[in-house]
Amino acid sequence: QDKQYLMIPGPTPVPPSVVAAMSRPMIGHRSEDFAALHRRIQEKIRQVFQTKEDVFILTNSGTGGLETAIANVVSPGDRVLALITGNFGERFTKIARAYGAEVDEVSFGWGKDVDLSVVREKLAGNPGYKAVLATQNETSTGVLNDIAGIGALVAETPALLLVDGVSGVGGIEIRMDEWHVDILVTASQKAMMLPPGLAMIGVSSRAWEVIEKNRAPRFYFSLPAARKSLEKWNTAYTPNVALFQGLDAALDMMMNEGMENVYARHRLLARAVRAAVRALGLEPLAADHCASPTVTAVRSPEGLGADDIRKVLKEELGITFAGGQGILKGKIFRIAHMGFAGKMDVILGIGGLEMALARLGYPVELGAGVRAAQEVFLGRN
Ligand code: PMP
Repeated sequence: QDKQYLMIPGPTPVPPSVVAAMSRPMIGHRSEDFAALHRRIQEKIRQVFQTKEDVFILTNSGTGGLETAIANVVSPGDRVLALITGNFGERFTKIARAYGAEVDEVSFGWGKDVDLSVVREKLAGNPGYKAVLATQNETSTGVLNDIAGIGALVAETPALLLVDGVSGVGGIEIRMDEWHVDILVTASQKAMMLPPGLAMIGVSSRAWEVIEKNRAPRFYFSLPAARKSLEKWNTAYTPNVALFQGLDAALDMMMNEGMENVYARHRLLARAVRAAVRALGLEPLAADHCASPTVTAVRSPEGLGADDIRKVLKEELGITFAGGQGILKGKIFRIAHMGFAGKMDVILGIGGLEMALARLGYPVELGAGVRAAQEVFLGRN
């Protein structure tokens, strides 16, 4: 089985035009060509972030982007409120701890979204938070959090709102300025349709006041250094030039499709996947009101291990779904539908899932899931 179908929440498939752009000859990162490239990227990526502020493109993974946010905002002893809905909320918390923050952790449970009334209570009862950490799209559970709602609450306090948008930005609407997000982080390998290796980080003017005064050590991760370089359409250190070229092309694709259409496509794919798995008698982990448009986590049926389903999919059909993380290991599988993903990817993934379930002896009506997805796509459901 040669042909492979990658349906995990990052890295995701890369479109041919992006691959072609990344294959262009190398250019010097201190050249005028690079400055022009950087400037084009900046104009487009601000539309994705919905911000008038600078968006820094850093050569590191998403976690490096999160660490950049923390290192520039948090000093030892600062109080931080962490809103946790799964694995990546926990990671953000660990980074804050590593930088000496006193973290107030609120866990809403794996598969649930952030409850705004709890956030309101926390903010009212505990003034003095320097930052609030939130995850836009919790990749480990397929849960979308209400960043606009959280932003409105945090904006009434002096705290900064730091958002992990790694598996959402580019596929799910976010309005950095309007929703009072102070630092928004994403990465290249998910809805942005690129290979791994870049983090993108938007910074509000309110955040800059804190960043300039922060005492934590930072060098490679220094945002003031990045800002100084961006003034000349430069980067502080040698960037991944090929990925910058790819980012330019990926952003062109998004601008051509139109961000509203990009978001609608992701919502449609998620709706079709959810309808399909339900038609097969399976249940998505997340409730409809907080269903992620970019990744769907599905509980494996009674008596069937999620990783056994994944093994058959991979070995017999070349389809890769992601497994569960942490406490959900073996209990769920996750189907990504982000970035360069369309209707026929869903049909293929669901068709494969039906075959894997049948192979494992699960009573499945072949075609029932595919049909449910087709009906969503045909506007009949
Ligand atoms: N946050 C979220 C929400 C993610 O999905 C991921 C990657 N799965 C990360 C952070 C970490 O990104 P990276 O693996 O690029 O460091």
